[in-house]
Amino acid sequence: MDFATATQGEHYVTALIEDHETTCWGCGLRLLVPPYAPAFKCFWCGAITNQNAVKIENKNFKWRRLRDRCFVGVLVVFMLIVIGGGVWAICPIVFSISYFCGSIHSSIAVVLSISTLSTFGLAAFRSAGTPPDILWGSYPAVKKGELENFTFCQYCSKPKLPRAHHCRSCGMCILDMDHHCPIIGNCVGAANHRSFIIFLISAIISTIYVSIMSVYAAFYFWPPLSHKPIHFFNGAVGQKLLLRTLKDVLFAFLESTLFVPARGLVLVYLFIASVSIQISLSVLLWQQFCFIYEGKTYLSHISTSEGDETTEKDCQNLIQFFGCPSTTTRFLPIYFSSRKKHKK
Ligand SMILES: [Zn+2]
Ligand SMILES: [Zn+2]
Ligand SMILES: [Zn+2]
Repeated sequence: MDFATATQGEHYVTALIEDHETTCWGCGLRLLVPPYAPAFKCFWCGAITNQNAVKIENKNFKWRRLRDRCFVGVLVVFMLIVIGGGVWAICPIVFSISYFCGSIHSSIAVVLSISTLSTFGLAAFRSAGTPPDILWGSYPAVKKGELENFTFCQYCSKPKLPRAHHCRSCGMCILDMDHHCPIIGNCVGAANHRSFIIFLISAIISTIYVSIMSVYAAFYFWPPLSHKPIHFFNGAVGQKLLLRTLKDVLFAFLESTLFVPARGLVLVYLFIASVSIQISLSVLLWQQFCFIYEGKTYLSHISTSEGDETTEKDCQNLIQFFGCPSTTTRFLPIYFSSRKKHKK
């Protein structure tokens, strides 16, 4: 017997002697496992037990929830200010052009405001994806393979579905969790992912509309820029002329702001705010579309290493995302067809 075989033999004997009995959290069966195995999978129900796991308290959960809700409140106030400011500064101008023009723009503003606020409300206040109640902890009530790849959430003290993640800010496990979003103060998961995407689209269209209308309306308010006489530029050529012209235009613009009425300043603010918001939301939306196209969530994207791809990049993923009546049933058809009560 060579050294390697001897080592293997010893290892095998040691394992046999030291195997100890432990309980599967899923079906409650007593199983023999090596003590050094950090985790094991039950041969009956398929649940994964982590031997070193200890109960974790969800500390500061209430403070995180309060912080999220306060931020959502601030955002709602901000959205109402943008809507109110826009109506106050733009309405007199569009109605001064014609009553028909005013009515058209008012209707567009009402539709965009309602769609943005309602989809924001759905994404922020709807549960992101509550895991269904599942029967666990008692054999033979738990059928063979029923808890395949389920783990145990040490925060919730409940079974955690293979595609669920625990969010410490929401204090619960979320189905198909994408990320915890500070904008909506809620998780983006199976139940509100579509509302979140529609909110982003609606907010981007609204901010584009606000920025175009604020520029258009500003032309009516802005006093004419003072021009330097042409001899001021005599002798200047090339780069020098360009710099002088830019400097002149900038000074004339700053000078004119002193005579701009309050409505004009509101329009400047609306323009800057709407453009910066639309840029950041567009980046977020593009990233979301890329993940949906790849058939992933943000969390599954960061946890999947290269060459470990299980989903296919396909436009069908995007169609399915928007076409299916419920994203929850799209991802988890079996759990919703067999809801059971927890008996432990
Ligand atoms: Zn089991
Ligand atoms: Zn949990
Ligand atoms: Zn969350």
